[in-house]
Amino acid sequence: MDVVLTGTGSPLPDANRAGPSTLIKAGDTHLLVDAGRGVVMRMAAAGSMPGFLSAVLITHLHSDHVCALNDVITTHWVMTAGNAELNIYGPVGTARFVERQLSALEADTSYRLEHHDALAVGPQVKVTELEPGDAFDVNDIAITTAATEHAPVHPTIGFRLTHAGSTAAIVGDSIPCSGLDELAGGVDVYVQTVIRPDLVELIPNELLQDIHDYHSSVSDAAKTAARVGAKRLAMTHMVPAPTSDQYPEWTAIAAEHFDGEIVIGDDLTTISI
Ligand SMILES: [Zn+2]
Ligand SMILES: [Zn+2]
Repeated sequence: MDVVLTGTGSPLPDANRAGPSTLIKAGDTHLLVDAGRGVVMRMAAAGSMPGFLSAVLITHLHSDHVCALNDVITTHWVMTAGNAELNIYGPVGTARFVERQLSALEADTSYRLEHHDALAVGPQVKVTELEPGDAFDVNDIAITTAATEHAPVHPTIGFRLTHAGSTAAIVGDSIPCSGLDELAGGVDVYVQTVIRPDLVELIPNELLQDIHDYHSSVSDAAKTAARVGAKRLAMTHMVPAPTSDQYPEWTAIAAEHFDGEIVIGDDLTTISI
């Protein structure tokens, strides 16, 4: 199973980092977790396309994690000529969000239906809303969910994916909590969105100071990884985004608490497990 960090950015615009998303490739099964800014471009660079997706998994409805879902929906529709269903799984509220995306795309949908004889139907999307604790399969990938802690954002969920004996936890935004421990227990890779509170507090922006209490810091993520016996910690959604010469400083902070492999990188960093 390949875990590709297709977007390592955050809400803060960055010329080199797409918004949060992670692509899972296991044989012919491609899964996307979250769909942040620019995700379709990064999927193309990772050898994937919306038309190849067996499912999209959504951790929560914060805009940075879902703002390019409309691109995934439209591109999947056009690439499959309306002959395939796009399965989207997410927390309660996802169905309403997707319904409204489809409403926003109505003009485009009608233009293309009118113009292309080969397109007989609009986007075929099936949404499944999940409760924490739900388990399901997408082809030969087994997926379990648990509640994460990103208050006041609610509901938020994370995913644990198992394929051919390999396991990955892709958990979205969360502070340490029992749900994270459950999802990341003993995994081959634990992908955690992280911030550096010591650097965020230096940024003279009042709104940014509100993010401290609902994200894992680098130390938090490393402590979770150590507590649950994860083999690797992959950091993503870094705020503020480090330059490559700062990566050693970030990994050193994590290494104070976790002696497994620590991954930090640019978009398209790939972890093969
Ligand atoms: Zn969030
Ligand atoms: Zn986020």
